[in-house]
Amino acid sequence: MKSIAVVGANLAGGRAVEALRAAGFDGQITLIGEEPWRPYERPPLSKEVLWDPANVPDNFFLQDEGWYAENRIDLRLGVRAEALDLTASAVQLRGGDHVRADRVLLATGGSPRKLNMEGADAANVHYLRTRDDALRMAADLVDGARIVIVGMGVIGAEVAASAVRLGCRVTAVEPLAAPMIRALGPQFGHWLGEEHRKRGVDTRFSRGISGMKVTDKRVTAVQLDDGSLIECDAVVVGIGIEPATSLARDAGLTTNNGILTDRQCRTSNPDIFAAGDVAEQEGFFGGRIRQETYQNAADQGQAAAQAMLGQTVDYCKPIWYWSDQFDLNIQFCGHIPVAAKVTVRGDMESNAFAAFFQAGDTIEGVLTVNRAPDMGVGKRLVERRVAADSTRLADPDFSLRELLKAAR
Ligand SMILES: Cc1cc2nc3c(=O)[nH]c(=O)nc-3n(C[C@H](O)[C@H](O)[C@H](O)COP(=O)(O)OP(=O)(O)OC[C@H]3O[C@@H](n4cnc5c(N)ncnc54)[C@H](O)[C@@H]3O)c2cc1C
Repeated sequence: MKSIAVVGANLAGGRAVEALRAAGFDGQITLIGEEPWRPYERPPLSKEVLWDPANVPDNFFLQDEGWYAENRIDLRLGVRAEALDLTASAVQLRGGDHVRADRVLLATGGSPRKLNMEGADAANVHYLRTRDDALRMAADLVDGARIVIVGMGVIGAEVAASAVRLGCRVTAVEPLAAPMIRALGPQFGHWLGEEHRKRGVDTRFSRGISGMKVTDKRVTAVQLDDGSLIECDAVVVGIGIEPATSLARDAGLTTNNGILTDRQCRTSNPDIFAAGDVAEQEGFFGGRIRQETYQNAADQGQAAAQAMLGQTVDYCKPIWYWSDQFDLNIQFCGHIPVAAKVTVRGDMESNAFAAFFQAGDTIEGVLTVNRAPDMGVGKRLVERRVAADSTRLADPDFSLRELLKAAR
């Protein structure tokens, strides 16, 4: 194998090319990205970049500018890959260029799902995925601005917290009963909703939006399905992403809610791999899932690189992510099993606690709020499917490491 092309120059693609060189691959590597930037971090986009757009954090990019040239990575930025030519083993770029490659990694991520109503594309209606999206949004999140957040998943909840910090007057509309309820379950979703409310967010949960009032190409009010009209200066929409599967689908690869991959990160074509937010992979607890987390994109990008080089890879990990909102560092690993036994360790009142979700005695999910050290151990408890007595889990004096030792 002499050449590898990676389509998608962000986290999964960026980590993949690093791993290819780290593993000693000496052939041609081409990294193709539609955005004009070399791979960068998205997590600061809903936090530090909004707080202070003029001072993007120092570690914003994955690598220094010179790293790609020094490592002989042919970086093709600002250009879209338009098709995979499987007979010629090539990636076809917009503008007519072809990149020949023996193996291809698709790390194309996804783009924000749009509202389907009048005003959805107005200049003051924001969707957040890229650096440019964040900079445009930041210009509207000014002291005193009236901001309506539509959708309180991770992105909506993080932007709500950042907007409050910037002095905006925030109304959050969410059709489910609480923010992040799919991820955290009802008990902790309601806890989080209350934290937003206490910090000044006007929470409108179990409510959808039925329309937007547009004046001079700007949305000036959002109409809720209970008839109320919320006047606003800008709208932030966080209603999920559409995985960028079109290249794969058009080439005849198997896709569903993502590009289907096996535990070697291989698609239905043996020379094409996929990783990151776009990959639909085997779930750690069964079934198939598409993860939208930083850690998965980084780890699966590296795993795919190793698999492309013929190394043995068996990639199947539980979800792990973090989210920072106000003074809350929220981390979650695993999943919430059906009829989960829920045990809280620590003090929910003071926002320093962990929660364990068990199927029978087996720990399948761990949530920590401002207790990151518990997550360090919690992740391993989930990965090793450790069983535990819930009274011990609830005891803050009991060392979770004891459970790991016993499981060994
Ligand atoms: C605002 C924000 C905050 C986040 N915060 C957190 C957090 O706190 N914690 C956490 O765990 N996760 C967080 N995430 C999620 C995490 O950043 C993503 O899971 C990760 O970026 C996914 O990486 P990826 O490389 O798979 O996809 P992406 O980052 O989407 O990168 C895919 C790249 O491929 C390019 N591309 C797509 N199609 C083509 C094509 N045909 N040709 C060329 N290029 C193409 C796209 O332009 C894009 O640059 C956050 C995400 C966002 C948007």
